[in-house]
Amino acid sequence: MIATVIARRLSLAVLGLGSLVATTAVGQTTQKGVGITIANIDQSVKPCEDFFHYASGNWLKNNPIPAAESRWGSFNELADNNNATLRAILNDAAKNAAKAPKGSNAQKVGDFYASAMDSVAIEAAGLKYLQPHLNRIAAIKDLGEMQRFLADPKAHAGSVWYGSYVGQDEKISTQYAVQMGQGGLSLPDRDYYLKDDARSKAIRAAYDTYLVNTFKMLGDNEATAKSNAAAVQRIETRLAKASKSRVDLRDPYANYTKMTLAQANAAYPNLNLPLVLKESGLGAAKEVIVGQPDFMKEVSAMLKEEPIADQKQYLRFHLVSSVTAALPKAFGDESFRFSQTLTGAKKQQPRWKRTLRATDGALGEAFGQLYVDKAFSPKAKASAKEMIENLRVAYAERIKATDWMSEATKKEALTKLNAFVVKIGYPDKWKDYSKLSIGRESYLNNLLAARVWANQDQISHFGKPIDRNEWGMTPPTVNAYYNPPMNEIVFPAGILQPPFYDPKADDAVNYGGIGAVIGHEMTHGFDDQGRQYDSKGNLRDWWTKEDADKFNAKADIVGKQYDAFMPLDSVHVNGKLTMGENLADLGGLTIAYAAFKKTPQAKAGKTIDGFTPEQRFFLGYAQIWRNNSRPEALRQQVQTDPHSPAEFRTNGPLMNMPEFFEAFGCKDGSKMMRAQADRSKIW
Ligand SMILES: [Zn+2]
Repeated sequence: MIATVIARRLSLAVLGLGSLVATTAVGQTTQKGVGITIANIDQSVKPCEDFFHYASGNWLKNNPIPAAESRWGSFNELADNNNATLRAILNDAAKNAAKAPKGSNAQKVGDFYASAMDSVAIEAAGLKYLQPHLNRIAAIKDLGEMQRFLADPKAHAGSVWYGSYVGQDEKISTQYAVQMGQGGLSLPDRDYYLKDDARSKAIRAAYDTYLVNTFKMLGDNEATAKSNAAAVQRIETRLAKASKSRVDLRDPYANYTKMTLAQANAAYPNLNLPLVLKESGLGAAKEVIVGQPDFMKEVSAMLKEEPIADQKQYLRFHLVSSVTAALPKAFGDESFRFSQTLTGAKKQQPRWKRTLRATDGALGEAFGQLYVDKAFSPKAKASAKEMIENLRVAYAERIKATDWMSEATKKEALTKLNAFVVKIGYPDKWKDYSKLSIGRESYLNNLLAARVWANQDQISHFGKPIDRNEWGMTPPTVNAYYNPPMNEIVFPAGILQPPFYDPKADDAVNYGGIGAVIGHEMTHGFDDQGRQYDSKGNLRDWWTKEDADKFNAKADIVGKQYDAFMPLDSVHVNGKLTMGENLADLGGLTIAYAAFKKTPQAKAGKTIDGFTPEQRFFLGYAQIWRNNSRPEALRQQVQTDPHSPAEFRTNGPLMNMPEFFEAFGCKDGSKMMRAQADRSKIW
C-alpha cells in the first residue's frame, strides 16, 4: 500500500501549534475587530521582566482551558469562529444533499457529514461494515499472503509498518519519486516506547488498557485480548527501536538514500516492493528514495520473523483504531480515554466538531470551496500580497546588510528570496473529486473510500510534471507553511483574519500579527533545514564553508537559549528539535519589524491607547501567542513538536531584539534583555 493515509512531507515547516491542534470548543470570545485588546494586559507584570505575561496575563487568568481541549489560545479562538461558519455550511450541505446533483461536491460534502453525524445508524450497524475488512486480515495465512495484502491499495489496515508516498525528489525537485520511511507506531513518538521514566510507563500502561479493551470489543476473551495486546506492543516497540529520533530526522541528507528498485528489493526482500509498486500502478518506477534504510531493513526482517498471527493483531488494531469515529460509541470512548493520558483533556469534543475536522480531512478542497465562497474577502488577499512584498524587500535589505555572509552566499540567498512562490487563500485549481463516491449509507465506507481516493490522487502525480497548484493545507486552516522543494510560502484563508490580520487594525498590529507569520515562513527558507535547499527547491549546498560555519555558530547560540527554557518543572525545551521554528520566529519577527518601520504609521510615531507604534507592534505579536496548555499537553509538545511552547515563542525572540528593548525602555539586567554577548542576531 503506497501512501498511508496522510503522507505529508516531513519537511513541511508550519507555523502553528503542531500535532495537538484540536480545534475549538465552547469558548469565551474576546473582543473582535480591534487590534490589541488592552484588557488582556496584566499591568502588574513589567514588560521588561516577562513580556508574555505582561501582554496577555489577564487573558491567561480569565480564559481557563475548555474541558474538551488540551490547550486554548488565539489560534483556537479563531478556529472556533471559523467553525461556526463551517458548521452552518455543513448543516446546509447535509440538508440539501439529496437535491444536489449526484456526484457533485455539494452532495459528497453533505452526505459525508450526514453519515458521520448519524450516530444512531452507526450504533445500529455495529461492526457490519468493518467486518469484511477484518475478515480479509483474518484470512492471511503466510508471508506471501501478508505481502499481497499490504500491496493492495484497496486493503485497509490503517498506517502500518512504514510510511510511503509519491512526492518531489528533494535532489531533483522537477520530478516526483516514490519515497518510503519509518512509521507504523501508535504512540506519538519512539521515545514513548523506550523511555523508563514514570510518565512513559504510565502511558504504556494506559495504551495496554486501550489495546485490551479494543480487542475485547472485537470479541476476544480476556486472555486472548491480553496476549494480542502484548503482541501489538512488542511489534511497535521493535519498530520504535529501529526508528530515528525526531532530531535525527531533521537532517535532510541523512534521511535521503536513493536506490534502484533492484537494490531496494535486495535490501528489503520481505517487503516485496515490486509487487507493492505494481499493485499501486507504480510499476514504471525504477528507483525509490528511502528515508531510513536501517528501519526498512528491520521491517523486512520483522515480516519474516514475527509470527503471522501476531502481525495480524497488529493490522487488526491499526485498522480499528483508525476508524473509531465510524464504529459504535464504545470504541471512540475507549480511544478518547487513552488520549486523555496524553493530552489531559477532560471531555471529548462534541461529535459535530470531530466530524467537521474529518470532513476537512477527507474532502478538504470541496468543503474549502464552499467556505471560501462564504468567508474569504479579496481585500484580505490583496493586503497579504502587499505585506509579503514589503517583507521581501525588507528581507533583501537585511541579507545585503549582514556582516557575516560572503558576497557569493548573499547572491544565492537573494536569488532564493526572489524566487519564493507565494500562495494566498485557496488553490487556483481545485482538486477533482469526481472519482470519489460518497453516500449516506455508511460513514465507515465513506471514510475508507476517501482514503483510497487520497492515495490514488497522490500516486497519480508520478511521472507527470510537478503540480505547482497543489496545496498542503485546506482553505479554512488557521496555519501557514513553507515547503522547501517547492520554495513556496503558503497562507490559507483561515489565517488571514483577526487577530492575525484585521483590515480595521493599524499597521503595527497587522505587521506584528500576519507580518510576523509571513516573516516566519520566509525565514524557514533560511533556517537550519531550509537553507540547505536552493532557489529551485533542490537539496544542494550553496553556502561557502565559512558562511555555513558562521551560520551554525549563530544557530547554536539560539539552540542553547531554548535548551534552558523550562515550561514545567524539570522539563526543558529541546533546542535541537525546535531549532528551525525558533530561527523562523526570531528571523520572522526581525524582518516584519524592519518592514513595519517603513510604514507611514511608524514614521508618524503617534501613540494609540497610550502605546507607541513600536510598542503596538510587539504587543500585537505577543497577544497572538496567548495560550494556556494542560501540563500533559505541554509535555507532549516538548517531546514531539518542533514548535516551542507559546510563552517561549513570545519571549524567546524578543530577548534577542534591541528593537524591543528600545521600544519598552528595558534596562541592563532586566529579564527580557539578554546580555549583549549572549544574544543571537542572524538577519
Ligand atoms: Zn514554522
